[in-house]
Amino acid sequence: MNDLASYAVSSKNSRGRCIKEPPPLERSEFQRDRDRIIHSTAFRRLEYKTQVFVNHEGDLFRTRLTHTLEVAQIGRSVARNLHLNEDLVEAIALAHDLGHTPFGHAGQDALNKCMKKYGGFEHNLQSLRVVDVLEERYGAFDGLNLCFETREGILKHCAKKNAKKLGKLGERFLANQRPSLEAQLTNLADEIAYNNHDVDDGLRSGLITQEQLEEISIFSRHLAMTKKQYPEILGRRLIHETVRRMINTLVADLTKQSTANIERAEIHSLKCVNAAPQLISFSKKIKHEQQELKEFLRNNLYQHYQVARMSNKAHHIVEMLFNIFNEETQLLPTKYQAKAHKNKYQTIADYIAGMTDRYAIREYKRLITIE
Ligand code: MG
Repeated sequence: MNDLASYAVSSKNSRGRCIKEPPPLERSEFQRDRDRIIHSTAFRRLEYKTQVFVNHEGDLFRTRLTHTLEVAQIGRSVARNLHLNEDLVEAIALAHDLGHTPFGHAGQDALNKCMKKYGGFEHNLQSLRVVDVLEERYGAFDGLNLCFETREGILKHCAKKNAKKLGKLGERFLANQRPSLEAQLTNLADEIAYNNHDVDDGLRSGLITQEQLEEISIFSRHLAMTKKQYPEILGRRLIHETVRRMINTLVADLTKQSTANIERAEIHSLKCVNAAPQLISFSKKIKHEQQELKEFLRNNLYQHYQVARMSNKAHHIVEMLFNIFNEETQLLPTKYQAKAHKNKYQTIADYIAGMTDRYAIREYKRLITIE
């Protein structure tokens, strides 16, 4: 790892783990966090959870797992440029979507609706719940016992009413303070990853076209650059050359603008970071372009009728599962029945949120059909 800036998170200035453990011998505290996340069950499930396209729709679309790896790759690049803690960024990135339900946002919306009367369902809070409570792997504790800064980055944001229940981790929301630069940056690496891979996947699926995207400034600008350099190339190769240029521009812009922000605010310690406004950001021009692209993707891809049909089915499956278990907890697997005794709704939500797309479909069939 490169030299850390004075305002980076380090093993030394970390606020530590909930349960004290001896320091690792051959790795940093955040490498240990990263390793624990990679070995978790929830991490392996990401392979079969939807990003935008449901897993069986095609082999080449992003899944939650490949999305997660792209976030980690982009995040690490920016972290290295800014002399921030790459291991922490990698750990946050790899865990940032662990709490996602099956079927992407449709699944989350459905579960949130079912849980409305019982405190709601929010995937960031659920990601934290996975690493704090739900993983059962270690003798000495439930969850992964990750460092404060990793947990802070995973939580990302939360409503004030939830912050009060989170102890130390919730304090900054009540005090209106910012998380580490590593957490801020992973959040934007997530945005860079999904905007770009959704362009790529959207074009691959045929739900959006290159002609439509040529109206969007960030895409058309980079398409023109690519065509100028390689007038001969077409199809997927042209798209890939364009998308990689967009990612490069965004990474470079984020690095440059954030460096300027940090300098201007005279940041020299982690404490200053917490008290300052958000310091990791794109320039005005890029922010504007990203907004335009996001709106385009929302109107033309995420709300495309073919995606909406799938979302509708997903909504139905999640709602049916919730209602069936709510009506009759005896239908839950044994392990969950014991937990449901103590906290019925949370247990049902944990069980459903942990499902992969195909597990949810199978479970749904098992519950409603006789073969
Ligand atoms: Mg994500």
